[in-house]
Amino acid sequence: MIIPVEDRFTEEQIAEVTGILAEFSCSLSPIYGETRTIYAIHGDERHELMINRLEGLSYVSRVDTIQSAYKLMDIKSELANHEMRIGGKTLGQDLIVVAGQCTIDPKNPNYFIETAHAVKEAGADVIRGGIWKPRTSPHTYQGSNDAVEILLRAAEETGLPVNTEVMDEEQLQIAVDAGVPMIQVGARNALNYSLLKRIGAITRGKGTMVLLKRSMHMGPISEFICAAEYIVAAGNPNVMLCPRGTVPGLDGYRNHPDESITPLLKQKTWAPVVVDPSHSVGRSIYVPHAALAALAYGADGLCIECHVDPKNGIGDDPKQAITPNTLASLIEDGRDVYQRTQKYTKAYAPPAMLKAGK
Ligand code: PEP
Ligand code: MN
Repeated sequence: MIIPVEDRFTEEQIAEVTGILAEFSCSLSPIYGETRTIYAIHGDERHELMINRLEGLSYVSRVDTIQSAYKLMDIKSELANHEMRIGGKTLGQDLIVVAGQCTIDPKNPNYFIETAHAVKEAGADVIRGGIWKPRTSPHTYQGSNDAVEILLRAAEETGLPVNTEVMDEEQLQIAVDAGVPMIQVGARNALNYSLLKRIGAITRGKGTMVLLKRSMHMGPISEFICAAEYIVAAGNPNVMLCPRGTVPGLDGYRNHPDESITPLLKQKTWAPVVVDPSHSVGRSIYVPHAALAALAYGADGLCIECHVDPKNGIGDDPKQAITPNTLASLIEDGRDVYQRTQKYTKAYAPPAMLKAGK
């Protein structure tokens, strides 16, 4: 990774750097942050002469060569200083709550609009609403483009940012063109490396946030971080990691709760961890427990399914969605747990500002 002296390289500087890298069969790609751009080296960056020549350039501040499978996501990477903000909050400094319906029902748009207002009232920062849904059976409701404008209406009426899942490039393009500020990659696509690369490339430089769920089939922690590395390496560093339950190891919960991996993630990567307790436990009565547990484990945020009238929802909402009243009390309690946990987290994973010595 090359860190420029100024906010970004000029075109002439890029040409010179690219020329040096090409001699060593390496290439360069920019990673746009909010205020500055840093540059990833693709290829084997261990050539000492290449590093020396790059560091000899007056406009290069530093070259980081982290030998890790996820060198951009690594906690030692320069991106650890990268600030991510959404809904007026800074991830890693403020608790972030994404809440709303699993699925927007285009036949009953008012439910979603009411839910959006209610989750705002309850204290959520981002409204979630599924437009396209990954369903186990192809005979169940798959989502609809008709829900795009319902999601946008909720954003406009509440003034809050919105989040939706995309499963392919066509949906991604529709969401990006519609200005959706937070894209979700679901558990089923978290190992779809082609999609992850396209997400990174298409949202590059747009400030789009990406909530990457953990696949229920992922094993080692590094596998999850590497999936995020694909998005970052393709150009978008605004990635949040979202544990959402892994393959069920016991009967009872929908998936096996995995919020306990939060400290392991925070030790290895700078990326904020936003836990989804809804898909993890799979029943609304258990969600508050799993949500507070996630915060006790040091999560930076939560992604929760919530509906004004769960029994009349579709998708996961009848089973999993909590009501706005429950959400409000959960957020209040959650802020307390979040604050109390910070001192333990800071001991091994200081927030970006501290890491940067600011
Ligand atoms: C969802 O968020 O509604 C969803 C389908 O989640 P997951 O990909 O975690 O199953
Ligand atoms: Mn769902």
